[in-house]
Amino acid sequence: MDFQFTEQQRRMVAAVRDLAQGEFKANAQKYMDGTFPWENMKKLADIGVLGVSVPEQYGGLGLPVFDTALVLEEIAKTCYVTAMATLGEAGVQTRVIATYAPDTIRERILPKVVSGDCILAICMTEPHAGADVANYRTNAVIRGDEALLVKSGTGASIGCASYSRGFIEPAANFGQIGLDCCFD
Ligand SMILES: Cc1cc2nc3c(=O)[nH]c(=O)nc-3n(C[C@H](O)[C@H](O)[C@H](O)COP(=O)(O)OP(=O)(O)OC[C@H]3O[C@@H](n4cnc5c(N)ncnc54)[C@H](O)[C@@H]3O)c2cc1C
Repeated sequence: MDFQFTEQQRRMVAAVRDLAQGEFKANAQKYMDGTFPWENMKKLADIGVLGVSVPEQYGGLGLPVFDTALVLEEIAKTCYVTAMATLGEAGVQTRVIATYAPDTIRERILPKVVSGDCILAICMTEPHAGADVANYRTNAVIRGDEALLVKSGTGASIGCASYSRGFIEPAANFGQIGLDCCFD
């Protein structure tokens, strides 16, 4: 097995490292009070990083999870808050949409994720069942063309909730991840 980075991975890591070391490091402490790092997110969008998980047809780079981890590692070395904000855009939330959402939602949302105009949150954790996803109590009911969420538990630990324009909500009774995108 070849454990060497590809040339593309090497270039991407170098670009993110230059940005993070040069521009994020000095201000990292200022975001520890809960301020959202918009400035850093825009700079990451400018070099394409927020689209690392977004399929190419929606303006992203369409790269696998490993590449996302490489990017996050470089950001986390300098600014934890920016790395956590990027995790949703470059990783989890975006991948849920790219994998499960209908085309209409993908077309509407993913280009805005790439440009840094749409921050996404995921409302997964419930206090009684953190990692135990099989015991989540949030259900959905289907009415006509709409799936309405019935939250019978309480959400917890929703990162970036105040700054997000879209919320992804797993619904236990679908037997798979459901999606609630409250996008404007
Ligand atoms: C930095 C950070 C950001 C986060 N952001 C978000 C967010 O944006 N949105 C969101 O929804 N959540 C978020 N979370 C919450 C995260 O999803 C939960 O912390 C996670 O699900 C673990 O839950 P817990 O801490 O209650 O651990 P627990 O669920 O109590 O798990 C403790 C241990 O028990 C094990 N365990 C649990 N259930 C079972 C089982 N049924 N069988 C066997 N072993 C089991 C686990 O593997 C683990 O080792 C975030 C967490 C962190 C740390």
